[in-house]
Parts: sequence; structure tokens; C-alpha cells
Amino acid sequence: MSDDEVHEVDESHRARMQRKKAVVDAAIARADQDKGVLLVLTGNGKGKSSSAFGMVVRALGHGMRAGVAQFIKGRSDTGEEAFLRRQPEVVWHVLGEGFTWETQNLARDRETAQRGWTVVRAMLRDSSLGLVVLDELTYVLKRGWLDLAAVLADLEARPPMQHVVITGRGAPQALCDAADTVSELRDVKHAFRAGVRAQKGVDL
Ligand code: ATP
Ligand code: MG
Repeated sequence: MSDDEVHEVDESHRARMQRKKAVVDAAIARADQDKGVLLVLTGNGKGKSSSAFGMVVRALGHGMRAGVAQFIKGRSDTGEEAFLRRQPEVVWHVLGEGFTWETQNLARDRETAQRGWTVVRAMLRDSSLGLVVLDELTYVLKRGWLDLAAVLADLEARPPMQHVVITGRGAPQALCDAADTVSELRDVKHAFRAGVRAQKGVDL
């Protein structure tokens, strides 16, 4: 390329970037509200719970308090649980220990879920909690152990500046409709299927 041609490419790149910056700046200027955001992280890909706990760390970094409720007690040896339970600004509840899995005792599962939701409702009324994570809540909703309409009403009634993150596969449409931000994690590949067991720092 000649010097003139290089100059022309530079100029056209600069003009394009300038137009793009104007669009981005205008979008940033339009987003001028503060509010408690309801987020849903769903889909079959990896990264839902770890993203939610990443937001807990962000919140703590800003001096906020955070609450975590785990609906399905998968494993108790995750790094996030070990680390975040040690933080004085975090309240951590495990609510799913009593589930029977097989529908052998639906009434008992419902009861366990209801008892768990009572704990969550208290967090959703506590304006000192800037962020609340409801980890794997979608499973409880999918199985019908909690009434979706009641859950949505409690979420709606929370303090106006409280953020809530809900994780789990198969989030119900009504929950996604109520949310402000919804991300669907897509499973492209996962090391587990190639025979790699769960790794500390990555999977737990
Ligand atoms: P993470 O906690 O790593 O963010 P997640 O919350 O998106 O994962 P879950 O369905 O809750 O996913 O499963 C948690 C565990 O299962 C983690 O150890 C994760 O690495 C693993 N996992 C998540 N998605 C997949 C998948 N598509 N295939 C195999 N294992 C998975
Ligand atoms: Mg998860």
C-alpha cells in the first residue's frame, strides 16, 4: 500500500470508530436509572452458579452485604462455599437437604421447599442485603414444589435496590419474563464428557 492508501484506511477506520463511539455514548447516557436487578442464569452450559458467586464477590468488594440460598444441596465442598461462608458480610443458607428426589414423598418435598422459601422471604425483606443469590431455584419451581406465582410476588415486593440472581437449568418462561437480565448458557462442550473429573477451582 502507498502512504496515501494507508492514510485513507486510517481515516476511514477513525470515522467508523467515531460513529460507533457516538452510538455507544448515547446508549450509556440513556441508561440513567438505578434499580435492583433481577437476573436469571439458565441453560445447560457451565457457568451459572459460578457467575452468581462472582457477583457476590463484586458486591462484597463494594462493601455490600449478600445472601445466598442453595436449593439443591449438590456438594458441600465447593470453593465458593468455603470462602464465602468465612466472610462476615455473607449469609449462607442451605435449604435443600431434605429433598427425597424420587417423588416418593411429594408432600414432604413441598414442605421442605416451603420452609426454605420462608428463609428466602426474610432475605427478600432485608434491605441490608444488596444482593441475594437463589442458587438452583429453577429445579424447585420445575418440580412444582413452590408456587411460581407466590415466588414472583415475593420477588416483586423486595426492596427496590436489592439485586437477585436466580440460577438453574430450565428456568420457567414466567420467571424469565419477570427478570431484567436473562442469560442462557449454551453447552458447547464440557471436559467431563471427555473423562475429566470435576476440578477444584473450576468445577467446585
Ligand atoms: P458452575 O457451578 O460451574 O458455574 P453451573 O451452575 O452452570 O456450573 P450446574 O448444572 O449447577 O451448572 O452443575 C454444576 C456442576 O456440574 C459443575 O461442576 C459444572 O462444572 C458441572 N457442569 C455444568 N454444566 C455441565 C455440562 N453441560 N456437562 C457436564 N458437567 C457440567
Ligand atoms: Mg449451578
